[in-house]
Amino acid sequence: MRAIIQKSSDPFPAMAAQRKLRIWYRRHRRDLPWRRTRDPYRIWVSEVMLQQTQVRTVIPYYRRFLARFPTLRSLARARPDAVLAAWSGLGYYRRARNFHAAARRIEEDHRGSIPRDVELLLRLPGVGRYTAGALASIAFDRPAPALDGNAARVLVRLLALHEDPASAGVRRRLEALVRGFMRGGRPSEITQGLMELGALVCTPASPSCERCPLAGECRARILGLQAALPMGRRTRPTEDREAAVAILRKGSALLMVRRRKGELLEGLWEFPGDFLRPREGAGTGLRRVGQERLGRTIVPGRTLATLSQTITYRRIRVRAYDAALGEPVPPGWSLPRDARWLSAQRIERLPHGSATARILRVLRNSPRASRARRMTPVEP
Ligand code: SF4
Repeated sequence: MRAIIQKSSDPFPAMAAQRKLRIWYRRHRRDLPWRRTRDPYRIWVSEVMLQQTQVRTVIPYYRRFLARFPTLRSLARARPDAVLAAWSGLGYYRRARNFHAAARRIEEDHRGSIPRDVELLLRLPGVGRYTAGALASIAFDRPAPALDGNAARVLVRLLALHEDPASAGVRRRLEALVRGFMRGGRPSEITQGLMELGALVCTPASPSCERCPLAGECRARILGLQAALPMGRRTRPTEDREAAVAILRKGSALLMVRRRKGELLEGLWEFPGDFLRPREGAGTGLRRVGQERLGRTIVPGRTLATLSQTITYRRIRVRAYDAALGEPVPPGWSLPRDARWLSAQRIERLPHGSATARILRVLRNSPRASRARRMTPVEP
């Protein structure tokens, strides 16, 4: 133990570790579309999409988005709705708005050329320390640390730090270690190597130290603490919520409402609906939604689809009901400006979330759901 304590207080052998890390990365990295390019715009698209979203989910969106907006200029010139539509289903729509705003700023202030300097990158909308570091190092091979959750976990274990990795002091130590790694060159490989090692080998619950190129240097492994670190890993308890949405039809058109300015998911089109309040049934909830959004009561009928969705810490069960607008029609009533009858094809070209996309698929694929017309009202 004495020998181990002495060893853990020695300077970390950054040069040896970074060499092993780079060799491992070259041999074992996954072949991902954004690793086949040096185009900073394409790398940036991947970095924005990968925030909060898994690689497997991102790949088809990444390809479609680049087919639609192949260059920074094409993105900068696009209408906000077109950008949101291309992002539809990926979630966290603020990322798309900020990215679009940043592309426009680069067109205006940097003649369309993405800045290489971290401080300049940090002035762009939506670009924080992580994105600036990732872009500078991956796209431009600049020695700028980028600590995502995977990289931070690897580094905390390498140093066997018993402190919360989110604290400013620990972040500074981890960034200093990455800069030490980058002094050996190839910042792009260092950044991606740390992230890839965290994703494939140094995983949160059961790191595979026997396959790790840094096992000889890793202080957590030497001390047998790899599963206990990082400390302070807190996960917010999952919250179960119920939501109800109304499928209202006029011929083949569906009634859609648009999320208002300032609302979560602003600008997205969706079926009229909401989270149900405590002890509120779907009937009461949808009548409330009808009054609030349409100035008419919504009378829900039978269930057309039930789907589950997890958004951050919320596990949501969404029920879609065949529905009709209540009678009588209030005098002078017309559809509000942020509500429209739209065909399914039109909705697919407008910004919408993944729940809406899934309900549209159910309506398209299920003859029972697409034929549903006869109303059997549900209980409040
Ligand atoms: S030796 Fe184990 S704990 Fe240490 S970095 Fe490698 S996988 Fe992670």
